[in-house]
Amino acid sequence: MDERLDYAPCGYISLNDDSTILEINKTLISLLDYELQEVQGQHINLILTRASKTFYQLYFFPMIRLQEKVEAMYIALKAKSGQEIPILLNASRNEREGKFFNDCVCFPMKERYEYEQALLTAKRETDQRNRMKKKQIEELDLLRNELECKQNELLELNEKLRKLAETDGLTGLKNRRCLQESLTSTINLHAGGSQPVSLLLMDIDYFKDINDTFGHMTGDRVLQEMGRLLEEESRKEDVAARYGGEEFALILPNTDKFEALKIAERIRWHVEQADWGKSAITISVGAATFVPGDTESSLQSKADNALYASKNGGRNQVTHASDLKL
Ligand code: GH3
Ligand code: MG
Ligand code: MG
Repeated sequence: MDERLDYAPCGYISLNDDSTILEINKTLISLLDYELQEVQGQHINLILTRASKTFYQLYFFPMIRLQEKVEAMYIALKAKSGQEIPILLNASRNEREGKFFNDCVCFPMKERYEYEQALLTAKRETDQRNRMKKKQIEELDLLRNELECKQNELLELNEKLRKLAETDGLTGLKNRRCLQESLTSTINLHAGGSQPVSLLLMDIDYFKDINDTFGHMTGDRVLQEMGRLLEEESRKEDVAARYGGEEFALILPNTDKFEALKIAERIRWHVEQADWGKSAITISVGAATFVPGDTESSLQSKADNALYASKNGGRNQVTHASDLKL
């Protein structure tokens, strides 16, 4: 071999159609760390990696036979130590003295190979991180949804608790605590301006006798029925409450004395007329209407006095606090 080719700054190898190595230059031999006699006359497979052998058979060999050249093929050679050496290969098919030779030159691509590997590794890591990030975002979304559901449940629960805290268990009307609060807010809202506010306190007459005669259960049913009746008789803006055993109240916003007495009388009449089964039921009513200087408790005690007067007057009647003689 020509000395310049033997020591050229690229590998050179010449193969016959049986893929036997006919010639190989010193540059390539020393790259592969072989001696010339170990390689010359051997099958090309000796210096190919496992993957490159397949590639050579399926791609390189058919191509050089068909097109008579191969350009920029990227494969890996195998050194004597077994180490892989990536190379870029150019080959051409040439006829000399009636025989065909497949002449190849190759350039080691170690740096580029390592660089590509590093790029591939970085890409794989990035993909992996993106997948993890996506998964974490999905998990976070799931948690956020769960949290939202729990928050909604909590809001619903709070709403139920709030209703429970202001409701009388037996009748479903507002309880005493809610009555006090509603009275304060109604007075603040209406009586502060020019709108009248009235309050009715109602007490079932001789209720103890109902319990004593027909039993506590019947007494409870009467209280429930009374609750229903009051609910029916009240307007949307009114607040109906049970504030004691057999004592009920009705806050009447935007209602003067005249109107309050009309409503009280109507309720009293309905109770008297209602079908209570075995016994008649009546109520006594005390009414009071807010006047300047009144407070929630003064209004309440005025209505209470009026109720007391209705009881003393013979029960089953309505009294307005302003008609009481001092
Ligand atoms: P008056 O006409 O003076 O109001 O007489 P009254 O018997 O209605 O009044 P009193 O205060 O003497 O009795 C009220 C009764 O109400 C006594 C109590 O047993 C009964 N009571 C209180 N709470 C309940 C309840 O939740 N259920 C039942 N069934 N009875 C109750
Ligand atoms: Mg009572
Ligand atoms: Mg009573």
